[in-house]
Amino acid sequence: MPKNIWRKLLRVNLSNGKLKEESIPEKLFEKYIGGSGLATKYLYDEVPARTNALDPKNKIIFATGPFQGTKIIGSAKFAIVSRSPLTGTFGVTTAGAEFGTRMKKAGYDLIIIEGKSKIPLYLWINDGKAELKSAKRIWGKDAIETVDMIKKDLKELKISVASIGPAGEKKVAIACIVVDSHSFAGRCGFGAVLGSKGLKAIAVKGTKHVSVAEEVKLKELNKKWFKNIAKTAKETYRAHGTANDIVFCENAGDLPIKYWSQSAWPEGAKKIGAPNYTEVLKSKSWPCLYCPIGCHRHIKFEYRDKIIEGAGPEYESLGMLGSNCLVDDLMLISKANDLCNRLGIDTVSAGSYVGFTMECFEKGLITTQDLKGKKAHWGDGDFLIDLIGKIGNKEGFGAIFSEGIRQAATTIGNGAEELIVEVKNLDFPAHDPRTYYSLAINYATGTRGACHTRGYPHVSEIGGMTIPEVGFTEVPERFHMEGQARLTALFQGLAAIHDSLVLCIFSPILGLSLTDTVKFLNSATGWELTPEDIMKIGERIFTLQRQINIEDGLSRKDDMLPQKMFNPGDKGIRKGKIPEPFEKTLLEYYRYRGWDSDGKPTAETLKELGLTE
Ligand code: SF4
Repeated sequence: MPKNIWRKLLRVNLSNGKLKEESIPEKLFEKYIGGSGLATKYLYDEVPARTNALDPKNKIIFATGPFQGTKIIGSAKFAIVSRSPLTGTFGVTTAGAEFGTRMKKAGYDLIIIEGKSKIPLYLWINDGKAELKSAKRIWGKDAIETVDMIKKDLKELKISVASIGPAGEKKVAIACIVVDSHSFAGRCGFGAVLGSKGLKAIAVKGTKHVSVAEEVKLKELNKKWFKNIAKTAKETYRAHGTANDIVFCENAGDLPIKYWSQSAWPEGAKKIGAPNYTEVLKSKSWPCLYCPIGCHRHIKFEYRDKIIEGAGPEYESLGMLGSNCLVDDLMLISKANDLCNRLGIDTVSAGSYVGFTMECFEKGLITTQDLKGKKAHWGDGDFLIDLIGKIGNKEGFGAIFSEGIRQAATTIGNGAEELIVEVKNLDFPAHDPRTYYSLAINYATGTRGACHTRGYPHVSEIGGMTIPEVGFTEVPERFHMEGQARLTALFQGLAAIHDSLVLCIFSPILGLSLTDTVKFLNSATGWELTPEDIMKIGERIFTLQRQINIEDGLSRKDDMLPQKMFNPGDKGIRKGKIPEPFEKTLLEYYRYRGWDSDGKPTAETLKELGLTE
């Protein structure tokens, strides 16, 4: 067994308060690597199909992979897998800061949380010793305050804390998990899953040494890539964070503008993007451990007699809270972002809900009466902040979003259902499939709903990224559907691998090749995998996630794009463009994957991938 894998999971049963360690069969690491792949397997085996995400029978699994604790570039990540209260099926998310490293160094590959506590608790893991502690004093506190209170409570400063805010406690379906105050397991509503179980936080201290198979080789490889990536990121993500991409994305027709109804907003993008972002917010890099990219931002400023200090908005938050709502005041966007972080809600869906509300208001589907005297005008940053508060606290008009945007649209009625932009009830992230057609198939077939990180084929369309190791050497032509099915499937597999390793996707985006990723893995584990082997593992993991979707009752009817994605832009680079032929390409994608015409993996495919006995 590789030295860098403990083969150990911590099982925490909140119903009876029992904690026990179990060993993980070695063959599971060979088939699923670790991280989200391994956690997907446990979720599939242990949680029955169609279990409600907020039912005590649901489990939430925190997972590390072979790289955590090794100081490899981009390794300060961990994955969380559970059933999502938003989509009602498989969900996955990753976050960074220090949690993954400390969890691995505490001696665990997985932590499985199950059951439900009658009283608020938090889990304290101290280098392999775990206990449940009362969270009575911190229940009700915001997600950031919680971190400081737990550190004081434990008299430990060098620990990592993953916490939920009031939104998670109230089981708002877009509640997130906040990690060390500046990294966010944002999507899929896992904060609500923890809240439903009565678990406010997990604090972890880990100091064990993680050995590797070939230390010298690994160090050399890491040195090379650290240097390469640091150089590439210096003037871009290190200098400005992901705000670096705003102007470029607007120009490319990629940025969400006016809740996906407008195709250009150059003056707004200039205001909210870099370099203006860095100057106005005086932002500084706030990296995860061992990362020369350091995309996260730290900001501190005074606004309307209040100090706002903490994590600055990133590209997705700037897009969804900013351009999506036509808000161009960076300080208001930052305040809205800070409020989301403290309440513990996903900034992407929160921005989506506000943009949708503004569009409904403009179209007369909701009135000032519905909004208790408020007006939801485009560009109104104060309205943005007000509605976010209501969504996170499940109050007033905000409460209509407590189960997601589909429920809200049904409540509003009068055609509001036609306006929403989501797949499987997960709101679109801030990238437009009308400009990168591969995203059309990627969003439609995403196993957790619309997602640009569990598959990032648009990166190939943007920068020409190929995977020559598996014969993918030519990027499909922009604004054409031909070739997008294969591109999407390959990059979904690649993303499943990165989530299982658990490696930050900025490393491959900034140049780390598949060949060197495999070299990293082999040096750490002593395995002798090839790029083809690892791509097969990625395909297996993605297909198992799809199988969970299928057993939950999802099928081709759910692999759809919202109507708005077939309304072409009227300005800019994507003027007149829509991702067609969509249905034909979807069927081509199914065939490429070995699924039937209803999107179900065939018996032969499952067998070929080792997913049936
Ligand atoms: S690139 Fe950003 S998210 Fe990735 S490890 Fe570095 S700081 Fe964390």
